[in-house]
Amino acid sequence: MKLFFFGTSSGKPTRSRNVAGAALSFANRSGWYLIDCGEGTQQQILRSPYSLHDLRAVFITHVHGDHCFGLPGLLGSAALGNRRAPLSIIAPRSLRELIEVSLRCTHLNLSFRWEFQDVEGRELVFKDHGVEVTRHVLSHRVPSYAYRFVEQGMKKRLDVSELVRRLVPRGPLWGRLQEGEDVRLENGETVRSGEVTLEKWPRRRVVMAGDNDSPGLLREACAEADLLVHEATFTEALRRSLPSDFGHCSAAEVARFAEAINLPNLVLTHFSARFRESGGARFPLSQLFEDARRYYGGNLLLARDLTGYRLGCDGILRQEMESSP
Ligand SMILES: [Zn+2]
Repeated sequence: MKLFFFGTSSGKPTRSRNVAGAALSFANRSGWYLIDCGEGTQQQILRSPYSLHDLRAVFITHVHGDHCFGLPGLLGSAALGNRRAPLSIIAPRSLRELIEVSLRCTHLNLSFRWEFQDVEGRELVFKDHGVEVTRHVLSHRVPSYAYRFVEQGMKKRLDVSELVRRLVPRGPLWGRLQEGEDVRLENGETVRSGEVTLEKWPRRRVVMAGDNDSPGLLREACAEADLLVHEATFTEALRRSLPSDFGHCSAAEVARFAEAINLPNLVLTHFSARFRESGGARFPLSQLFEDARRYYGGNLLLARDLTGYRLGCDGILRQEMESSP
């Protein structure tokens, strides 16, 4: 499983960070998924290993502009690139209108079909050969959602000792069982594929959360999750100095939640534009990390723009040196 960030800034871009956008892709699957599409996401995609031709679906967490203003431009560029494959867009209902008005007012004819799925409808919002995606309600100034991606279509390997124990004769039956078929033996016994096969690698579960002031809402979505990507707009000190939390979280709040549920990997993103990387900054990004580290003992990462991460066989997410989709 790979994760890549196009933008990590909250509200508005900075000179070094764009607004929200991230890519997810899974091992041995073609294509990738885009989560949020702030303005300028398409320029960031050009600087990344990802291509609009291979984009399978777009998931928007909520209607605020730093998460969706990039959609019309992205669709236009995909059309200019002569994309043909249909594109699924999963988003709050009103964004359908944003897309339709943008296409109409700018006389933009797309070269491909786009299929809009209202996130407020059913919980299972998307399914293809690679993933199943459910949406989970968050708390923000407008309706906001997290998307839980669960890897599907895992390659199977045979559990040979179980096949031998069940007296399944070596040969074509083994192949059929590996393909997922249940078979009947000569003695009349039925052997189910799931009883004699194992997944080749662990099924990955990733939760990509939108803006949210109540991480506890993600308890169910994060059950068995390998990884949570969550906003950390403020440090505790900055949050206390502001008149409102604007429906956002501090790094410490997310960290306390992640620790309480024993989450193995936590990636923080969506940092207030006040935060800067440079050492002398009044609001250094490192302060967000230190705040979270105080409460969370698992694998903690601060997302960086144009940076890829890979979930290793050991279940640990690490930054990639060279990013490929
Ligand atoms: Zn935002």
